[in-house]
Amino acid sequence: MLKTDYDVIVVGAGPAGSIAARFAAEQGVSVLMLEKDRDVGYPVRCGEAISKSGVEEFIPSNEKWITSHIDKFSLNSPDGTEAIIEFQDAGYVLERRIFDYELAKTAAAAGAEILTRAYVNGLIIENDKVCGVKYEYRGEKKEIKAKIVIGADGVESRVGRWAGIKTHIHFKDMECCTQVTASNINADSNTLYFYFGQNYAPGGYFWVFPKGKGIANIGLGVSGMVGKKKSALSYLNDFMSENYPTAPILTSIAGGVPSTVTLEKISAPGIMLVGDAARQVNPLSGGGIASGMIGGSIAGRIAGEAIKKNNLNYILTYDKAWHDRLGKRHEIFERIKNGIYNFTDEKFNKIAHSFNKIPKDKRTLGRLFTTALINQPSLLVDVAKVFII
Ligand SMILES: Cc1cc2nc3c(=O)[nH]c(=O)nc-3n(C[C@H](O)[C@H](O)[C@H](O)COP(=O)(O)OP(=O)(O)OC[C@H]3O[C@@H](n4cnc5c(N)ncnc54)[C@H](O)[C@@H]3O)c2cc1C
Repeated sequence: MLKTDYDVIVVGAGPAGSIAARFAAEQGVSVLMLEKDRDVGYPVRCGEAISKSGVEEFIPSNEKWITSHIDKFSLNSPDGTEAIIEFQDAGYVLERRIFDYELAKTAAAAGAEILTRAYVNGLIIENDKVCGVKYEYRGEKKEIKAKIVIGADGVESRVGRWAGIKTHIHFKDMECCTQVTASNINADSNTLYFYFGQNYAPGGYFWVFPKGKGIANIGLGVSGMVGKKKSALSYLNDFMSENYPTAPILTSIAGGVPSTVTLEKISAPGIMLVGDAARQVNPLSGGGIASGMIGGSIAGRIAGEAIKKNNLNYILTYDKAWHDRLGKRHEIFERIKNGIYNFTDEKFNKIAHSFNKIPKDKRTLGRLFTTALINQPSLLVDVAKVFII
């Protein structure tokens, strides 16, 4: 039985929402998380790759939701040159439907209440301050009050807009992604494969992420501007017919990734935004699971502290806390992305050729950047900042 009001309501039970709910509940305040879908963690719209450190900041690694252990990146240039970078314990390809579910369980264990099939369709706003949500549950319209609402409602977020926060994103910054999960795929299950260039994914990259032996998430993201001319799906179909014409397709998805800097404002009286809703995705990689969890943890902690301090204005410190932890870094990543994604096919080829001349044991991500820089010196300052800041 739900209460009539809560200290904190979280809208959306993705990774960012579950971690926000958990970190708020850990402060001993009352938390309710509302999810529109029937199941937490499903449907999945994700390539499911994440670094080990990104996971372990929040939950111990568990084979229950790991499908592949990754220790190699294979970067493929347009002329077919493969540059391999080896890492120890780089990360995983997840089974997100289990991973997201487990994250929600950690929120519940911390004391958060969770309700699925609860579709939030508006906010309660009084005196310019958000103080609750309107939602629909099994055909019934309901309202529930909260001192703080955390919008974790993903890329298509409306919570921020309802609260009057500017959430507009330029078409060019929205990566249009499409992906299939296919079987009978002949790929090393410890390697993430990336393909660059005009034939694969102009203004983005193409990926093959193994999900255990013989199964892989195969997809791509292209800038919204490119997608207008040739759809991401056409690029995917071309790749599949050329490389895996008979591979059975287990799932097929499409979705957007906001590959840009964080929104200018991610908190306002009574409201905070986390994860894709706040545009907390890493603009260079397009990965948003780990950064969304980091955003969620900061917002959840600050929300809990604001309640305990009895000072709701304290939530406005969230913008700076996020900016100091990752937002600033994402601004640099965005500049690097704009440089790299404008590379011509010839430039990608040249980088791969130069990189492969480096002795095998010295081929690191840092050396790859250095090689890219020789070809694009103007990126030097931005890359230097990533390692210094
Ligand atoms: C094709 C594709 C591939 C990707 N690959 C990767 C990858 O390999 N690695 C990576 O790190 N990231 C990847 N991403 C990005 C990643 O999936 C997202 O950044 C991440 O899921 C964001 O987490 P979130 O919690 O902010 O939002 P979500 O995971 O989208 O969760 C939002 C939740 O809110 C719920 N919700 C929405 N509206 C409402 C409402 N009105 N009421 C109640 N509930 C609501 C939704 O049902 C959902 O459960 C990929 C994205 C796409 C599209």
